[in-house]
Amino acid sequence: MSLKIYHDNDISPKLIQSKKVAVIGYGSQGHAHAQNLRDSGVDVVVGLNPERSSARKAEQAGFKVLAPQEATAWADVVMVLLPDEVMASVFEKDIRPALTAGKALAVAHGFNIHFEKVSIPEGVGVFMVAPKGPGHTVRRQFELGSGVPCLVAVKEADDDSSLALALSYAAAIGGGRAGVLQTSFKEETETDLFGEQAVLCGGLSHLIKAGYETLVEAGYSPEMAYFECLHEVKLITDLIFEGGIANMRYSVSNTAEYGDYVSGPRVIDDGVKARMKEVLSDIQSGKFAQDWLNEYQNGAQYFESKRASEAKHPIETVGAELRARIQFPKSERLVDQSKN
Ligand code: NAD
Ligand code: MG
Repeated sequence: MSLKIYHDNDISPKLIQSKKVAVIGYGSQGHAHAQNLRDSGVDVVVGLNPERSSARKAEQAGFKVLAPQEATAWADVVMVLLPDEVMASVFEKDIRPALTAGKALAVAHGFNIHFEKVSIPEGVGVFMVAPKGPGHTVRRQFELGSGVPCLVAVKEADDDSSLALALSYAAAIGGGRAGVLQTSFKEETETDLFGEQAVLCGGLSHLIKAGYETLVEAGYSPEMAYFECLHEVKLITDLIFEGGIANMRYSVSNTAEYGDYVSGPRVIDDGVKARMKEVLSDIQSGKFAQDWLNEYQNGAQYFESKRASEAKHPIETVGAELRARIQFPKSERLVDQSKN
């Protein structure tokens, strides 16, 4: 395997402990980075405009909260954990003016750096520490003495001092307990967007809905369709997560396994892969990124209307009713519904 993987034996929070770190944003990732860094002995302030409700949450958690520009001016390392679609405007207005030479800029996803939506001042090193999990898992695993795997990257390939900072930062948020993988901004950004669009979020949600609709349209009950096409996804993905696809196939019946081989490729055929390649090219060319930023800047009407109509899909209604009436195995509640 050519990929380099670092663990706590190879890296330590020592270097980042000698730096002042501003965490800009206190949402899903922000709260986890700030709290894990602090617990690892790092000097942290949170950068947010005081009127934002997450600024109050940060204060309640005992952090000093400064306006983003003041936080940037104070810090040696500025980790920007704002939504990707708002990052560039906040960066231009509040961060860039105070980001003087010798400071380091960090992000948890390469979107704005790789697609060049922000321009970096001379003499500022740029690195990424991208935990491969939601912020609430990053915090929870750290508290349990474990961690979430992280990706690290630097903007300039020979920037060893930014790489050292990235590794030390990753260790301080718990990444070294799981494993820290080194990648590039291009690779992280493009594979992350592709994964969430084609497989994880877009692919999976549409696969589930298509299966549900097929059963309901054939006259089966919505409750059965929900169980078979949505509820069981977790049971199957847990097996795949633990031991790969073969592990899942070992655990299901031979009948299910035979059906997997004969019917899987009828549903996910070469046409699907051809369209995945189209999705990937729109990501690589920057078209997807620009479309999303345009959508957001023009008021996000399509985005908001899809969010509302998708939430009304019958699978959501029947799912809510079933979940209220049936005891399912307990799973961690990961989503903080009031992150802003
Ligand atoms: P979030 O939406 O949870 O938090 C955003 C923070 O930004 C909040 O403090 C909010 O108050 C503030 N904010 C929102 N709109 C703002 C505005 N217009 N002006 C100023 N502040 C504003 O964001 P997140 O999901 O933590 O994402 C942060 C970064 O981490 C992104 O680059 C994302 O791609 C990356 N990332 C997220 C996850 C995840 O699971 N959420 C995982 C890996 C990487
Ligand atoms: Mg992702």
